[in-house]
Amino acid sequence: MAFLDLVSRVGLRARFIVFLALAFTPIIVLLVSTNLANYGAALDAATRDVKQMAEYFATRQSAAFHQARTILNTVRSMPPVSVLGGAECNRAMAAVAETNPQFYTVGVVDRDQMIVCHNTLTKPQRFGNVEMIERMTRPDAPEFNVGEFFVGKVSGKPTVIVSMKLPAIDGVAPGAVFAGMNLTNLSLLAGQGMPEGRTAAIFQMPAGKLLARHPPMESLLGSVVPIHPVLDTLRNSRSFEAGFGEGLGLDGREMLFGFAPLNGIGEAMIVAIVGIPRSDVVAPLNRSALWSFTICLAVIVATFAGTWWIGYWTQLRPIGRLRRTAHRIASGDLGARATIETWQAPELRALGDDFDAMTERLEEGRKAEEEVARSEARYRILAENTSDLVTSLDDTGRRVFVSPACRELLGREPDELMAGRPEDIAHPDDLPIVGSMMEKVRMGVPISGIQYRIIHRDGHPIWVEVGTKPLGSGLGAVLVIRDISVRKRAEFALANANARLLEQANTDGLTGLGNRRSFDTRLRAEVDRSLAESSDLSLLLIDVDWFKRFNDTYGHLAGDECLRLVSATIGAAIRNPREHAARFGGEEIALILPNTSIGEAVERGEAIRQAVEAMDLSHSCSDYGRVTISIGVACLHRGKGFSSTYDMIRSADQALYEVKANGRNSLRYRISSALKGQDRTTDQDANARENNFRRLVSSPPGE
Ligand code: GH3
Ligand code: MG
Ligand code: MG
Repeated sequence: MAFLDLVSRVGLRARFIVFLALAFTPIIVLLVSTNLANYGAALDAATRDVKQMAEYFATRQSAAFHQARTILNTVRSMPPVSVLGGAECNRAMAAVAETNPQFYTVGVVDRDQMIVCHNTLTKPQRFGNVEMIERMTRPDAPEFNVGEFFVGKVSGKPTVIVSMKLPAIDGVAPGAVFAGMNLTNLSLLAGQGMPEGRTAAIFQMPAGKLLARHPPMESLLGSVVPIHPVLDTLRNSRSFEAGFGEGLGLDGREMLFGFAPLNGIGEAMIVAIVGIPRSDVVAPLNRSALWSFTICLAVIVATFAGTWWIGYWTQLRPIGRLRRTAHRIASGDLGARATIETWQAPELRALGDDFDAMTERLEEGRKAEEEVARSEARYRILAENTSDLVTSLDDTGRRVFVSPACRELLGREPDELMAGRPEDIAHPDDLPIVGSMMEKVRMGVPISGIQYRIIHRDGHPIWVEVGTKPLGSGLGAVLVIRDISVRKRAEFALANANARLLEQANTDGLTGLGNRRSFDTRLRAEVDRSLAESSDLSLLLIDVDWFKRFNDTYGHLAGDECLRLVSATIGAAIRNPREHAARFGGEEIALILPNTSIGEAVERGEAIRQAVEAMDLSHSCSDYGRVTISIGVACLHRGKGFSSTYDMIRSADQALYEVKANGRNSLRYRISSALKGQDRTTDQDANARENNFRRLVSSPPGE
């Protein structure tokens, strides 16, 4: 997680650099390994070189000793040269020394260690180097000897004595010729042909005394060099062969050495060493390595800088632009555009184009939203300022907006109504209407003109008319609720007035019973019903007896009052709304009794007749002394008997006529001939009655 955390914080630039570093790693590894190999090869070559030089140098130094041997070999054969010495011998030595500058001194020494002949000494003198004499005079001693380093007593100079035994007398050498080698000369020899920078030295082993050196190092000449890599190797080694080594040289520098022994110098062990400073070997390599590393570094830096620059212009800058654009868009600035230059990568251009397209869509969306908001605000203002109550319902039928008109209309605050349903405030009796309305709303069917009652906060109902327009699937609907209380009141008043008008149109002004129009209408309806339903229907025609005489006796006003009283008695006999009493004409009143058989009708008629008689209204001109009535009855039995109202009325009228003809104050009925096949009345003047009846049914009441 920590690694991921770290990686998550690494930016694009750092990632580029890591990629580049990875890309450069093989090159750097190759460079380093090549340089290391070069170093190794150069050191190997230098080592081989110094070893070859050491061998060459050893050969040359050996030659110097060979030359000395050759000279001494010649000298010892010269006639004046003997252990006897003498002036001749001295002159010969002087001549040799003069012609051989490589020698400091040349002389003859006898077995008694006395120098008997010398290039500079005129008197015999003891030879200082006893060890040399002993080596020379040994019977098994080699012909040629190289002695130890020492400072010559005669010359006062550091030297090495080389000697050769004089020809033996009786198997024993009487003495030897010797020469003190000019070591400076050897040093000069060492320098001859030695390439610049190389050091060359010869050492006498096993002690390790420095005999000669190039460049010259006079102070160390003849001294034992205690620590030297090559001398140490040779001291520890049994063999004495050419080789190489490395370490600190006499001048304290790190050196590569080659060494080789000198040959042909008898028992003496002298080694020639050639050295080259390690720094001289590696300096050109260092320079080339420095160059290659510098160039590599320059290339890396240039590549990094180039990558940085190109990466900035081609990647980071457009990405930065995209990021800034995104930031501006996030901050609400939809005018921001991330146009990427045409020379940029097509992927980034495409991204930029997509970005711009997205922003344009967003801006269009925002403009549309603003337009919607504006229009919503307009509609809200409309909704809030109209007297109609406007409510918005969600798709579940709950209110999500309620216009302030609800205060006026319902005495409620909009907040109270929010989230409620139309059913909640509807009058309980109107819930079915509201239920079916909401069903239509849910189905997305537009509705208009739905009327029902809403309960005001005070509890009183308010008539409203509701129209709705569904907004679309899942979007709910808008209900516009209009207060129609005033209209409703007017409608009710109008309906009442109409009802009253209708009632008046059907009511007889004097008696308060139905008039002739209502009678005709009701009777026609009841006859039709009886025929259709095969039910009973009875009709009573009631006429006041000797009414003309009443009028004549008591006056018309008293007659009117009498008519009113008789009518009231008849009206009081009505038992249900379908039974109907109407003024048929003049002082004749008809009573329609649906679902009433002839028997019941006779009973009912008789009861009315008795009730009128019981009123005991005085009628002095009547045979009975009081106001009485006569009643004619006709009946449809289970829908049979008459085929028209006309026939039925005529039948009742005929029955009434019979009552009149038979003394009045009575009731008669006629059974239809269609039912019985005969007439129960005795008809003496049928034509006259028929005419009278026609007059009656066609004349208006009151005639
Ligand atoms: P009957 O017993 O045969 O019926 O004799 P009647 O006198 O009653 O019969 P008629 O038909 O000859 O007379 C009816 C009278 O009723 C005639 C008319 O003056 C009177 N009449 C009709 N309408 C009214 C009314 O509205 N008011 C008054 N006061 N009299 C009326
Ligand atoms: Mg009458
Ligand atoms: Mg009459």
